[in-house]
Amino acid sequence: MGFFDSLKKYKSQLDAVDSSVYYGSKTLLEVYERNAKLEAEIEQRTKELDRANKQMLTLQHIWNMMNSSEPLSSVLNAIVNSLQGELGYVYSFIIQPQIKDGESYIQVAASSRQDFSEKFAKHFNCRLSDYKMVYPNINGLKDAVMNNTIFQSTNLVELIGGFLPKLDKQGLEKFFKDAGMKSYILVPLMSKDIHFGSLIVFSSREKISNNELNFLGLFAKQIELAITIADLFQAVKEQAVTDSMTGLFNRRYFEEFIKKEAIRAERQNQNFSVISLDLDHLKQINDVYGHNYGDIAIKAIADVLKVNARSIDVAARMGGEEFNLILPGVDSAGALVAAERIRKAIEGVELDKIGHITASIGVATYLEQSDDLDELLELADQAMYESKRKGRNRVSLAQHSKETSWQDIAIRTYIDILTKHRIPVEETTAKLLTQKLKEMNFSNEKLYQVADTLVSTYNPDHNDGSVKQKVQLATLLAKRFDLSKEQIDKLKIAVLLYDIGNTMLPKDLLNKTGPLSENDKESIKQHPVIAAREILKPISNITDIIPIIENHHENWNGTGYPYHKSGDEIPIESQIILIIDSYFALLENRPYRDARTKETAIKIITGEINSKWSSKLAQEFISIVKNDLD
Ligand code: GH3
Ligand code: MG
Repeated sequence: MGFFDSLKKYKSQLDAVDSSVYYGSKTLLEVYERNAKLEAEIEQRTKELDRANKQMLTLQHIWNMMNSSEPLSSVLNAIVNSLQGELGYVYSFIIQPQIKDGESYIQVAASSRQDFSEKFAKHFNCRLSDYKMVYPNINGLKDAVMNNTIFQSTNLVELIGGFLPKLDKQGLEKFFKDAGMKSYILVPLMSKDIHFGSLIVFSSREKISNNELNFLGLFAKQIELAITIADLFQAVKEQAVTDSMTGLFNRRYFEEFIKKEAIRAERQNQNFSVISLDLDHLKQINDVYGHNYGDIAIKAIADVLKVNARSIDVAARMGGEEFNLILPGVDSAGALVAAERIRKAIEGVELDKIGHITASIGVATYLEQSDDLDELLELADQAMYESKRKGRNRVSLAQHSKETSWQDIAIRTYIDILTKHRIPVEETTAKLLTQKLKEMNFSNEKLYQVADTLVSTYNPDHNDGSVKQKVQLATLLAKRFDLSKEQIDKLKIAVLLYDIGNTMLPKDLLNKTGPLSENDKESIKQHPVIAAREILKPISNITDIIPIIENHHENWNGTGYPYHKSGDEIPIESQIILIIDSYFALLENRPYRDARTKETAIKIITGEINSKWSSKLAQEFISIVKNDLD
């Protein structure tokens, strides 16, 4: 290529460069302009994003608070606080309409930290709380609240003047000016379709954009959610049935369960026992090793209870270091065994640093120590304290605390009968009875044993254990007829004594296989009277029992003996004894017939409705004993 050729080529290339430079510079300018615009836009967008981000963070913060179990008031306070400084908001608060003594007024449910009330107090020389706030009568505001829409206005004086009509308007104007507040926004708050109150925001700007209104609407939704969740939390808390520290049932559940258990036990004529347990020397553990170790000891007890409880038992932490266990269907003998097993298991636990722990235990059984639930729990607790008194780490059975319990009276009566030879008891039997009475520690079991032995002296077919069953049945029946505790106690004594007149009847008459002569019948008819007059009347303390025994062979239709009373003339206690006595007699062997089955006995009882007993009594009775059939 020649020089000129090269030059030409370069020239054209240079032209191209030039033109591209020219055109390029033109594009660059455009690019520059476009970039500048974009940058502004980016800055604007970034700002918006930043604001949105902050709002998001605000909302997230609220969300986090809602997930905590803080009480509603502190959650609401924290929520309104998070609005502070946001979009130039100077002050925000939540108002709630209230009605008290028929008057409606407004209460501030939450307010932001920027202390409006302090400033207010300074400015007006009196406290906001000195005023009773009423709902302001502002055009459009009530509609907004009714329709659940946002309301905005620059008339702050009208709003606060509306809340507090007695305030000086000029003073208010000055106050807002000084505080830099120019407008307000009110957002109604709904919770489960009910107007809860309103969020009110004071702004430093007069103009409020749509974006801002959207944000406040969203914000209000979060408050509504917080209110709903707080309600739910409250409901959940109230419904909680377990103790969070140990996982055992809590007191609330225990109390509900034991009430149901008592009803069930009565209906099914069954015992249940309560074990009351308290950790020994917890204070010392706390003092020496710290509260955390005290907690470990409490949890260790809970673990022992969990392991030792049957699936139907209910183990509960009543609070602090106090535990209760319900053992359905278990009598005091069984409960004592269970309690001792638990005591041993606790003693065997070895904890880090603390070493061994012990617990004091009390046992009480429904229908044995008491048929009153409150009294039963009281007795279990007393038994637990008895264990503490005796040196801790032991089990005690509940004792009747009252001086003259029904057992007490019954025992004294037996002693009187035996020592004064009021009934003809064979010497060996008398010795046996006296021995049993001497050993007696006022425990029900022993009392029933004495009664069983006594009844066996005149009734060879007596089933051991039936005295106890009769007393429990009588108690349950009496409860169905709303008898008082005193009446029931008397009835129990009567159940132990009602047949004692039979001891005065000739033995061959009692065991007779053939038909009874008129004379025989007359003798038998006298037995309630004999019991009452000859045996029991001389004994002080039981005069109230005598009419119950005298009337325990009267029939509902007047065909009974000895007085031929009928219907309600017969004391209800006597009616109860008659039906129980008849039922248990049917279950016993007789010289002239075999023992009947429960089903047959119930059929016979049903057949004698309106002749021997009222239908109500028979129905109640059958509903109780039927549960024993399976
Ligand atoms: P006692 O053998 O007579 O029962 O002595 P005690 O120290 O266990 O009983 P007292 O009733 O005098 O004190 C009980 C202490 O238990 C007082 C209380 O601060 C502490 N306590 C109650 N609840 C808890 C708990 O949940 N954790 C811990 N660590 N201590 C508790
Ligand atoms: Mg204790």
